[in-house]
Amino acid sequence: MTDNHSHETPEVARPVSNFLRAAIDKDNQTGKYAGRVVTRFPPEPNGYLHYGHAKSIILNFGLAASYGGRCHLRFDDTNPLKENPEFEASIADSVRWLGYDWGEHRFHASDYFDDLYRFAEWFIEQGLAYVDGQTAEEMRASRGTLTEPGKESPDRHRSVEENLSLFRQMKAGDFPDGRYVLRLKIDMASPNLNLRDPGIYRIRHAEHHRTRDKWNVYPLYDYTHCISDAKERVTHSICTLEFQDHRPLYDWIINKLADGGMLPRPLPCQYEFARLNLTYVVLSKRFLIELVNGAYVDGWDDPRMPTLVGARRRGFTPAGFKLFAERAGVSKSDSWLDFSLLENAMRDDLNETACRRVAVIHPLKLIIDNYPQDKSEDCFAPNHPKKPELGTRAIPFSRELWIERDDFMETPVKGFFRMAIGQEVRLRYGFLVRCVGVDKDEHGNITAVHATYDPETKSGTEGASLRKVKGNIHWLSVAHAVPAEIRLYDRLFKVPFPGAKNPMGTLEETPVDAVSVELEEIEPKSDVGRSYLDDLNTDSKHIVRGFVEAEAANAQPEERFQFERLGYFVADIKDHQPKRPVFNRTVTLKDTWQA
Ligand code: ATP
Ligand code: MG
Repeated sequence: MTDNHSHETPEVARPVSNFLRAAIDKDNQTGKYAGRVVTRFPPEPNGYLHYGHAKSIILNFGLAASYGGRCHLRFDDTNPLKENPEFEASIADSVRWLGYDWGEHRFHASDYFDDLYRFAEWFIEQGLAYVDGQTAEEMRASRGTLTEPGKESPDRHRSVEENLSLFRQMKAGDFPDGRYVLRLKIDMASPNLNLRDPGIYRIRHAEHHRTRDKWNVYPLYDYTHCISDAKERVTHSICTLEFQDHRPLYDWIINKLADGGMLPRPLPCQYEFARLNLTYVVLSKRFLIELVNGAYVDGWDDPRMPTLVGARRRGFTPAGFKLFAERAGVSKSDSWLDFSLLENAMRDDLNETACRRVAVIHPLKLIIDNYPQDKSEDCFAPNHPKKPELGTRAIPFSRELWIERDDFMETPVKGFFRMAIGQEVRLRYGFLVRCVGVDKDEHGNITAVHATYDPETKSGTEGASLRKVKGNIHWLSVAHAVPAEIRLYDRLFKVPFPGAKNPMGTLEETPVDAVSVELEEIEPKSDVGRSYLDDLNTDSKHIVRGFVEAEAANAQPEERFQFERLGYFVADIKDHQPKRPVFNRTVTLKDTWQA
């Protein structure tokens, strides 16, 4: 699906330098890759993409584009238990939505299963891999610690023949899951735990969504990833910091295979950057799955979800994500960014690109006593204050209007310049009106406000009186406004660090692993003692019945507007219809509400 309504900004014209660009520049100078720049975005198809992935996508595709290279989309589908085609389709859609195109370069780790298997046999033949029959528990125990070397497995010195025959039996499905693991034979005393005979193949009797029942063994991430990169002739393999200690293994595997003539040189090189950590959200697929399955939100594309499908439904823009990524920069040390940085980027983009419309979301009736009952006339409003070329549109004015409930105060507080009895305000793009009284029901609730208008004060009319008033409010004609469902969203979590020991803590106080970094096979740390679910903002969604002008009601799904004085809104991608308009609030305006 392509997005016709987004306004793409071109790739940054003068890119800010960073350590990745410096590395590429250096390779281009030395001619290491003959000027080729090939990156890749390697999602595991086990969930929907989130804001953090956007950073990685923009980085990988953006770098490639700015060097005239290319970026591959590669599904890292090595774990058949968690993966499915629905996730794959959504991932591809989100990458395209962000404005990127991988062309023919859409790959799967499973494309390489035959090679990966063949290479594994080669490692066995070289005496560089063995089949280990220890239990997972035993393997963990014998792995050692950061301060103690590991212990060699009793199986480490099995003969090549026996290893080959066992590995083939593993492949043939002769053993149950977990009975054996194929491990590289590197160094059980290495200070780097990743080099202590890492597992590269495990038994898994599971149907794979692409290779079906062909395999009973599946390669593990570290082994698969570097080989996939090398086979695709990737030059710069960019990943997040938690893989820094895996780099020696990455290099070990592909160098051995290249020495053996199994992979072409020059080989790819891995670079690590700091993952995106954002306050007020959780960016881990495991948590996102839990939010959806536990019905804490209305599905993956709930506008409050930090997924890219959620962002899209919320009205966030691809250009806003790029602006955010550009401002966040690329760094080599983990840090937290405040959620408001993302909101600001969206605001800044929408301020440029979204047309202005009028909506009243908490309606109160205003009756202009001296305006004829059956008359109406057009007032004219600019579609964009900074883009006169976008023209104006007519907004009908009549005797009965809707205004925002908050724009009237019966007993105005000091400094309240909007509608109050005796006070004159401007109806934006219309007339000056002076409030003369209110109607109340039997409970004393205000049901309507009365005012008189000055016909000599119509905005945009030659010779109109331009006397200044301090209040300037928006309105819609009751007879012309279209009823609309307005969905007001707030942050999904009420604290900056959901689930952390000190969820209100400052950015510095909270350790990065408060939101756990999930690696394959490694459970996220749960030593924080409380759940991020404890910090959910249960009041983050309000649906109200308001009104919009006809020009907004007629929007296409996904069309984005600034509703003047209220914020940025998007016509809901699923539910909006011109006859039954539905708008989601993307983000509020920074500071105009109380003006
Ligand atoms: P999660 O932690 O949400 O489970 P993941 O790393 O397991 O994410 P993958 O599908 O493996 O998800 O990620 C695809 C790519 O996106 C990887 O290169 C990964 O480094 C990158 N990525 C994931 N999360 C972030 C993040 N928060 N910031 C930047 N890049 C990220
Ligand atoms: Mg991962």
